[in-house]
Amino acid sequence: MFSVYKKIFCIIVLPIILFFFVSCQSKEYSASRLLLGTSVFIRVFEGGTEQALEDIFARVQKIEEEMSVSTDDYEQTVLLDINRQSSLAASTLGLADIDYAKEEHTKVYELSEELATVIKEGLRISQETDGAFDMTIASALRLWGFNSGESLVPSQRELDEALRLVDWSVASVDQNQLRLGIGQSIDVGGIAKGYAADIVKKLLQEQGVKTAILDFGGNIVVFGQKKSKETWKIGIQKPYITDEIVAILSLAEGSVVTSGVYERYFEKDGKEYFHILDPKTGYPADNDLLSVTLVCDTSIQADGFSTGVFVLGLEKGLAFVEGEDNLEAIFITREKTVVLSSGLKDKVELAAEEYSFAAGSL
Ligand code: ADP
Ligand code: MG
Repeated sequence: MFSVYKKIFCIIVLPIILFFFVSCQSKEYSASRLLLGTSVFIRVFEGGTEQALEDIFARVQKIEEEMSVSTDDYEQTVLLDINRQSSLAASTLGLADIDYAKEEHTKVYELSEELATVIKEGLRISQETDGAFDMTIASALRLWGFNSGESLVPSQRELDEALRLVDWSVASVDQNQLRLGIGQSIDVGGIAKGYAADIVKKLLQEQGVKTAILDFGGNIVVFGQKKSKETWKIGIQKPYITDEIVAILSLAEGSVVTSGVYERYFEKDGKEYFHILDPKTGYPADNDLLSVTLVCDTSIQADGFSTGVFVLGLEKGLAFVEGEDNLEAIFITREKTVVLSSGLKDKVELAAEEYSFAAGSL
């Protein structure tokens, strides 16, 4: 008797279990690639096909090839070309003679629709953050060499000169044309990952993906509902420690992007210098923050505003976020306190003993 049952179990039940296992497996898939200077990870819970992810990664690669300004990675990109032409256009003038109020001291460049969209959105974020986010920071950023692996502290004279070229309000995008002051450079590093994440979400949805999580090196996008109907739980990284978290954010849908001092930095004479610069000084934004996490429905905005709000600092940054309907934020300060914007008060749980909510933040 027993052995007959055993046989039936083996022949009938086992294949059913296996089939069930395989069918569960085939629904969920993931893949990652090194792109945009980070690891781009896509995990699909429902819908679409695994093969289609290849086309999506190829699309992200195209975005990188157009928008990167890393001379280590690329000899030529559309943006590098524009920046070079711009500096060439200024080469016959002394810095002191440049006056952006004169139209002849600006120059127009043709952009792809994609780059026009990104720069336009970046300029809008500049306007809203009163220049705390400023893509023309490129002139100053270049001096620090964060992208080249040869970082150094520039001299005050070099920074002062570079800052003469930093002014987002000189730049404008009309149709697909970019007007830029001669000598100015553009760096979309503060929004490119967010833009790419939004595009990937759109492409996945077009391919029938219902539920997925995207992680572009800490730029998170979640959409669709998990089977368990629970909200997504997103860990907010502990500053300087990649595999530990400070807090857990519950989110139904949207994008979560963190700008932190620990993402790219170097040490010189006992002082740390990181890659988020204050456009007013050309130095790393000197404030009490270790990170700012922005929550928004689009990733390009979450990305741009996380950089901009970091530069604004806790007080101004929080006031700014509270004034915007579609933005929420989590601030982590050097005193190991966590400050939440009012819309997140019941959505964030602490997950590290040494951190606490700031008084008034709960
Ligand atoms: P990460 O790129 O490390 O994820 P962020 O989203 O905070 O971090 O963006 C930082 C990047 O933005 C820098 O590497 C640089 O390319 C650019 N950047 C730095 N400071 C500013 C600024 N004040 N405004 C706009 N872009 C900036
Ligand atoms: Mg950013």
